[in-house]
Amino acid sequence: PAVIVAIDGPSGTGKSSTSKAVAAQLGLSYLDTGAQYRAITWWMVTNGIDVDDPSEIAAVAGKPDIVSGTDPAGPTITVDGVDVAGPIRTQEVTAKVSAVSAVPEVRARITELQRSIAAAAEKGIVVEGRDIGTTVLPDADLKIFLTASPEARAARRSGELKNADVHATREALIKRDAADSNRKTSPLAKADDAVEVDTTDLTLPQVIECVVTLVEE
Ligand code: C5P
Repeated sequence: PAVIVAIDGPSGTGKSSTSKAVAAQLGLSYLDTGAQYRAITWWMVTNGIDVDDPSEIAAVAGKPDIVSGTDPAGPTITVDGVDVAGPIRTQEVTAKVSAVSAVPEVRARITELQRSIAAAAEKGIVVEGRDIGTTVLPDADLKIFLTASPEARAARRSGELKNADVHATREALIKRDAADSNRKTSPLAKADDAVEVDTTDLTLPQVIECVVTLVEE
C-alpha cells in the first residue's frame, strides 16, 4: 500500500532537503506545497493583482493552472506551462506569499490539488508544508513536525540565499512565521499525533536518518 508522509514546520528547519532525501531513499514521490503557494503568488504578482485585497485574490484563485512534478531527484513547477522554479524564489514572492496563502479560496484550491497528487502517487509520497498533517492529509501514515531555533533557521536561510544579512533574514522569517501561524484557515501547526524533531543541533544526514527510521518502524 502507498505510504503517506507529512512533514510540516516553519522555514529554515531543513524541511525541503529532508523531505526530498527521504523520498529519494524510500522510492517515494515528493511534493513541495510551499512551491505551489509561491507559484500562485507569482501568478498574482505577474498579473497585477493587488495582494493586499483578499477579495481580488479570491476572485481569480481558480485561474492559474499549477502543475507539480513529483520526482524527488528533480521536482518541477509550472504555471500555465511556464517553468517558474526560479521566479518563485524571489524576495518579492517570498514577501507576498503569506498574504496570498491566507485567502480561503486559495487554500481550498491548492489543498484539492495536493490531495489529488497524493492519491495518484502509486508507491506513496512525502508531502512537505505547514498544514499537511492537520488539514491536507490528516490520515497520513507518519507526521513529522520539524523545528529549530530562530538563530539556526536564519543562519541556514541566509546561507542558502548567499547574499544575505542574517539579521534581515531573521526578521523576515519571524514575520512570515507569525503570519502563517496566525491566519484563520489552516495555520502552521503541529498535529496532535505528529512527531516533533528539533533540528537545531542535528546535521542534515542525522535528520534524514531519523525520519527514514520513523517511516520504516
Ligand atoms: O515552504 P515555503 O517557505 O516555500 O512556503 C512559502 C509559504 O507558503 C509559507 O510561508 C506559507 O505562507 C505558505 N504555505 C502554506 N501552506 C503550506 C505550505 C506553504 O500556507 N502547506
